[in-house]
Amino acid sequence: MTQPVVRFAGVLLIPVLILISATLLLPQLRSVPHAQAALLPHLPYVAIALGLTLSWRFNHSRAFFALSVLLLAYLGLQYGLPSGSPRGLRQQAIYNLTGMLVPVLLTAICVLKDRGIFSPRALSRFLLLLVPVAAIATMVHWRTAELASLLPRELLRAGHLGWTPLPPPVLAASLAASAILLLRLALYRSTLDGLTVAGLIGVALALHTGAQPLSTAVFFSAIALLFTTGVIQDGYRKAYLDELTGLAGRRALEEELLKLSGQYVVAMADVDHFKRFNDTHGHDVGDQVLRMVATQLGGVGGGGRPFRYGGEEFSIVFPGKDADSAITHLDEVRERIASMPFFIRGRGRKKHLDQTNVRGRSGGGRRTTVTISIGLAERSERLARPQDVLKEADKALYRAKRGGRNRVSD
Ligand code: GH3
Ligand code: MG
Ligand code: MG
Repeated sequence: MTQPVVRFAGVLLIPVLILISATLLLPQLRSVPHAQAALLPHLPYVAIALGLTLSWRFNHSRAFFALSVLLLAYLGLQYGLPSGSPRGLRQQAIYNLTGMLVPVLLTAICVLKDRGIFSPRALSRFLLLLVPVAAIATMVHWRTAELASLLPRELLRAGHLGWTPLPPPVLAASLAASAILLLRLALYRSTLDGLTVAGLIGVALALHTGAQPLSTAVFFSAIALLFTTGVIQDGYRKAYLDELTGLAGRRALEEELLKLSGQYVVAMADVDHFKRFNDTHGHDVGDQVLRMVATQLGGVGGGGRPFRYGGEEFSIVFPGKDADSAITHLDEVRERIASMPFFIRGRGRKKHLDQTNVRGRSGGGRRTTVTISIGLAERSERLARPQDVLKEADKALYRAKRGGRNRVSD
């Protein structure tokens, strides 16, 4: 229970702080000198361009499309409502439709399957999102009266709630979209869902504060920067974390090795007879084994830091520890893995397995066990460089295998 809460807070904390900072900035806007105030409405374009470029380079299509929606919304507000506070049917239509379309489009982007940015399927998606925006913008601009006769009156009316100028349909769209995205955040733990909630709250706040040009510029810049940081965070995750197991990957290990000095231990762990396991039960079950082993290695004591070295091999680094104490902690993990029953269901169902299906309960599956062998080495005068220690650990792993597997060797 606590983990999803921490995750929720982690994903939403920075966006909420940025939005609060943007809100606190608003009273200061009146005292911004004229020259700077004239520059401020250009800031969202710079922030959005930065975000678009990064999301394109990192191939982060959802952030790319979300930023495109923000760009269109900002263009609509800047040119459609040049002095904020909507007056007349056309401006009210721009205000209301922006407030409704942004949550709908941002939610659609999060819900639709990721198809890249410049692929034919992504392009059709892009058009699917953009065609309604272009059609509505055209109608609002040139055919306001016809649009008013086409749409229900309630959609184009000014707000009448007293505490906010937002009309009920805009509030309803924002609340419904936030609820869907928060649910997705709880289910899939996607950073982008969290950011998108913050994004649509930011747009709602910009409209709530009267869509004044300067406050709108502040909110849209803040949202664009949020998406940009999200893209950078995701890029970091892709570069440093192993997708299958969630452990730090090879690149993170290389950097960890560079930082080591003084006393330390490096261990190499390898799943026993994994090829046979894969061949017998299939690659999906093999992947479940790797996840289980990674989870157990993640709980190693003694300050050990596990990494996925590659394939079914893992490295564990113990900064500041000697071989004797590392052996104790590694043997505990090895023992825990070896004593855990591992249940495998029939081949036809293996695609639907998840961790709880595979392990822990019998559920009619076949019972088997998984073992790992571990080799370790500590830094010494002979093994002065971390790479030398790692090589020695690899040799020790070989000895553990030859010695009969399911053991720790140094
Ligand atoms: P040993 O006890 O000597 O270590 O035998 P082994 O079968 O574990 O060793 P070997 O190196 O021959 O086989 C490793 C296998 O791991 C080969 C490959 O099919 C499998 N493998 C590597 N990466 C992955 C992965 O990400 N997922 C799955 N399911 N299998 C993988
Ligand atoms: Mg191996
Ligand atoms: Mg192996």
